[in-house]
Amino acid sequence: MAAMTRPLLNRRLAEFGTTIFAEMSALAVRTGAINLGQGFPDTDGPEEIREAAVRALRDGRGNQYPPGPGVPELRSAVAEHQLRRYGLEYDPDAEVLVTAGATEAIAAALLALVEPGDEVIALEPYYDSYAACIAMAGGTRVPVTLRPSEGRFVLDLDELRAAVTDRTRLILLNTPHNPTGTVLTRAELAAVAELAVERDLLVVTDEVYEHLVFDDAEHVPIASLPGMRERTVTIGSAGKTYSFTGWKVGWVTATPALTTAVRSAKQYLTFVASGPFQYAIAEALRLPDSFLDGLRADLLAKRNLLSDGLAGAGFDVYRPAGTYFVTADIRPLGATDGIAFCRALPERAGVVAIPTAVFYDHRDAGAPFVRFAFCKERPVLEEAVSRLKALGG
Ligand code: PMP
Ligand code: GLN
Repeated sequence: MAAMTRPLLNRRLAEFGTTIFAEMSALAVRTGAINLGQGFPDTDGPEEIREAAVRALRDGRGNQYPPGPGVPELRSAVAEHQLRRYGLEYDPDAEVLVTAGATEAIAAALLALVEPGDEVIALEPYYDSYAACIAMAGGTRVPVTLRPSEGRFVLDLDELRAAVTDRTRLILLNTPHNPTGTVLTRAELAAVAELAVERDLLVVTDEVYEHLVFDDAEHVPIASLPGMRERTVTIGSAGKTYSFTGWKVGWVTATPALTTAVRSAKQYLTFVASGPFQYAIAEALRLPDSFLDGLRADLLAKRNLLSDGLAGAGFDVYRPAGTYFVTADIRPLGATDGIAFCRALPERAGVVAIPTAVFYDHRDAGAPFVRFAFCKERPVLEEAVSRLKALGG
């Protein structure tokens, strides 16, 4: 047989190897280190929601293909949620689409809306699947870097404006932002909205951390700003809010035309997924707000524990306003290369973190930053902090 000289992985995907999350979780398993890398909680979500999934399985709801747009119960619950929380009205039949997690929603939105050669603006550091999906859609990613300033990673609105060209199709937003923990303010979002309207751009906004906001930060869906409902695809997910990341239940809310476009791509990706879990998440979305208050209070205490612990260990810490990640600068510890730092960390301290450089095109801008997840039980975080203290010494 002739040797296969042509690379197997096509050119669009050649730059994307194994995800950093898979690499770092495997490293944690191999070394037995505490895994503060990949963002998943180490305890499951509410018992009654688990039971709701069991009930759906037993009652034969969702064990066969659910409807393509998602089960009606969940679509209604998503629409009610957007109305109750944000005053955004969506028709559950025409304007809500259930997806296999936010991941599929992102992929389907980009595959549906981006023409080869279109430019897509993404905030850098960007969640890894954005880059891969823009590439799969044949688009060109145009990163706009969030820059550290006074304890927060900040969007430079002039840079954003300068990044728009005649080939820009859409702005891919993420707030609360993974990995930096930045929550875009109403004023920042208003400026993004103004630009989108002025340049006639679509906005795809990933809001999977919408409920994980702290202190006086407020999550504002950009779809709620003037002129934006008709040009915005909003993406949500149950994974983060309800601590069931394995269930892969996500959703899109958008105008009928945008929803139909996204569904056109989605139907050829998974077609449908997560049947019984869709019913359970419909119940989760109707839990009283006290559930979300409890979640936030628990995570706030953990954010403070980990942020203070990292500062005590010698890192420069960016205390997040949202998400369950803390970004830390390793330079005070005498290191500059976050990738090398994270590869060595299990050996040095028995802890796994994520180097955020891999989420940058401008690698230098991200080199010294590493991300730690705090969606873990208190004793786990306490042990991690005590191990990390050894680094400074
Ligand atoms: N977007 C962001 C910003 C994320 O951090 C994640 C990972 N949880 C996802 C999307 C993927 O969400 P899901 O697990 O619902 O596919
Ligand atoms: N969203 C999770 C994180 O940022 C990981 C998801 C994944 O493994 N792809 O850590």
